[in-house]
Amino acid sequence: MWYNVDMKCETCQTTESSKWYQNGTQCRKCFNREYNKRRQADPVFRAKKQAMVKAWRQENPEKKKENDRRWAEAHKEEEKIRKHEHYVNNKDQILHKQREYQLAHREEILAYKRDYYAQHKKRFSDYGKQYYLMFREQIKARNQIYRLAHPEQTKEMYRRYYIKMRDKYITKAKAWDLAHPEKRKQISREYGSRNQPAHNARTAFRRAKQLQATPPWLTSEHKQQIKELYQNCPQGYHVDHIVPLNNPDVSGLHVPWNLQIIPAEDNLRKSNRF
Ligand SMILES: [Zn+2]
Repeated sequence: MWYNVDMKCETCQTTESSKWYQNGTQCRKCFNREYNKRRQADPVFRAKKQAMVKAWRQENPEKKKENDRRWAEAHKEEEKIRKHEHYVNNKDQILHKQREYQLAHREEILAYKRDYYAQHKKRFSDYGKQYYLMFREQIKARNQIYRLAHPEQTKEMYRRYYIKMRDKYITKAKAWDLAHPEKRKQISREYGSRNQPAHNARTAFRRAKQLQATPPWLTSEHKQQIKELYQNCPQGYHVDHIVPLNNPDVSGLHVPWNLQIIPAEDNLRKSNRF
């Protein structure tokens, strides 16, 4: 006769019906656990089992993925701790490996980054805008402090920026001029009247140069004198060449002592007569 009686497991101390007992002393769970342990210790068995598992994984990639996912989900916290501990314990080695990898795959990584950026350009720019809006005041203050502390670098930065953007600015300005001819004319007029004396001086020099009336021995002081003459020329008066530059018989020079300030109407009447 076989009687089922309650028995106490030697290992885990739980009480269970004796029908679950594999040997006389251990419950089924404990017995199985120790049996598996003994099997795992056998290298031949272990290699066989590993090969089986590997084969199964290769045949069922989807299931493997799903299992991995479920396992990761179930062991999230432990994995986090384990990975962090691993990182702390092997930090130098890991960083060294990373650097080596980065150096060996530099071009690849750069290409990948470029690609990624191109694909998510909008997101990057949106994020940048948002960030700027959020921290505008802080960013401005920080930049201001930097600029004040590094005047040389700031100058150099602006210079480089200008060189970089020069063609773009010019193209843009030209396009705008073409699209707004009336406004362009008005701006030119306003600019001209604001900078008339300097403008007149420049025009006179250009004209004098075209007529070869500027002698090569003219010093910068002479040139400054001429410029000041134009700048001090009052409204309604013109700077006039006493001996005209383009008279067919005599050719005057564009020099201070050949210049006089006369009323505009006299100058217009005079034209190139002498
Ligand atoms: Zn047990």
